[in-house]
Amino acid sequence: MTEKQPLLQVKNLKTYFPIKGGIGRRPSYVHAVDGVSLDVFEKETLGLVGESGCGKTTLARSIIRIENVTSGQINFMGKDITNASRKELREIRKNMQIIFQDPYSSLDPRMTVGKIIEEPLIVHGVSDPDERYRRVVRMLDLVGLREYVYKRYIHEFSGGQRQRISIARSLILMPKLVLCDEAVSALDVSIQSQILNLLNDLQKELNLTYIFISHAMNVIRHVSNRVGVMYLGKIVELAPTHELFENPLHPYTKALLSAVPVPDPHRERNSIILEGDLPSPKNPPEGCRFHTRCPFYKADCCQGEPEYREVSPEHFVACHLANCV
Ligand code: SF4
Repeated sequence: MTEKQPLLQVKNLKTYFPIKGGIGRRPSYVHAVDGVSLDVFEKETLGLVGESGCGKTTLARSIIRIENVTSGQINFMGKDITNASRKELREIRKNMQIIFQDPYSSLDPRMTVGKIIEEPLIVHGVSDPDERYRRVVRMLDLVGLREYVYKRYIHEFSGGQRQRISIARSLILMPKLVLCDEAVSALDVSIQSQILNLLNDLQKELNLTYIFISHAMNVIRHVSNRVGVMYLGKIVELAPTHELFENPLHPYTKALLSAVPVPDPHRERNSIILEGDLPSPKNPPEGCRFHTRCPFYKADCCQGEPEYREVSPEHFVACHLANCV
């Protein structure tokens, strides 16, 4: 039996940002993404979760090459795109798109909705205006908007409608992979579920693959087939969604889950309170990066980084004491 090939493969990816210092000072770096490896398979949703500043957005921006990567490798649709040229990137982005958190700042308010959605078609050489119009109207319909919005401007719409327009623009080229970067975080809870359901319907209709980034565990649980938990530039645990939520092994995952409200007042829950802030990614702690906040810390934990290993089928974790805490 041949193994399923991933649509996207990320190998030991590092993205560091230089920090400007004074004359003669040694250059230092923010280790925003620090050795991430993962596979994403066609038609699945891989959720990425973690606190603000854990590196999940930089990881997405590195994968789509908005950020230049420091080292590692990104393979997409069987091709190494780590050092793709501008011209090559334009082709790659036909098949890989990103949806941002704030549609208002990512969409040009001087353009009509029709022109905003149509623009990628022009960039990619669809020269027939009737064909472009037809495709835009079909996409508007797919995201639940009527044809009349074509001539309207972005300020005339609510947050949820703007996110629908942003999704339409991202999908107009029929990409294979869509990176959803906190795509519903700025919306009211009732609108969030509408947009999540829309993304779910579009995934089925258009055979899309998603990487879904959020700091909200309940959102990640709702949309993902597998979930990766990020802490200080690294993935510390990754597993199928049900397995991760029912059998979390990393203390950080346990802490994130223990902070999610439970609707049943009779259900017992062991609350894990994380002490202190996320350490600076400029100087990540030695050994296990989580040791400065881990309630299960032992002296060995700062003696070298825990290996990221598969502890049961498809369940990966980086903790010296996984299965013991
Ligand atoms: Fe906590 Fe030690 Fe595991 Fe790190 S290796 S998460 S400090 S128990």
